Amino acid sequence: MSAPFWHQGWYRFAHKVDSPNFGPRPAGTEIDLVVIHAISLPPGEYGSHDVQDFFTNQLKCDRHPYFEHLRGVQVSAHFFIRRGGELLQFVSCDHRAWHAGESTHAGRANCNDFSIGIELEGLDGDVFTSEQYESLISLLPVLAMQYPLKHTIGHEHIAPDRKKDPGPGFSWGFLQQGLGWESHSFPE
Ligand SMILES: [Zn+2]
Repeated sequence: MSAPFWHQGWYRFAHKVDSPNFGPRPAGTEIDLVVIHAISLPPGEYGSHDVQDFFTNQLKCDRHPYFEHLRGVQVSAHFFIRRGGELLQFVSCDHRAWHAGESTHAGRANCNDFSIGIELEGLDGDVFTSEQYESLISLLPVLAMQYPLKHTIGHEHIAPDRKKDPGPGFSWGFLQQGLGWESHSFPE
């Protein structure tokens, strides 16, 4: 029986929301990195449909002054975990999502090429919910069954000059304990 949780890079237990913002990965890429992010729209406000709309190029930019910055911006992540733990998937993990931007990990640039991006509904500086950790702790092992993951890190670690997410409110120790993975898989 081969990987029943996955079909062409889509996780069976995620709510599928197709984003047009993706492309092919370079041929022969080993997908070995998970990048954790935090996002909320407007920043710090939770529970709206705006992140889904943003990742699918349907955000109504007139709705909020902050959204003016986002007009024409095309981004995506593979997964989005809402405050209540609900898991959404926007892009097949076999494809390259547009979440990391200019970034470097262990000497390799363009982390989007070889990573899976997981956005948590949140804000750098805020804490995350136990339901979000539970969802992450159930998702990462099934990802690791399908892809040769080596490291799980934050956006702030691969683009330190530009990004602060998920920030100090995210507990890497709690994630590590929940997964039972070795500490060298995570940020220092
Ligand atoms: Zn980010």
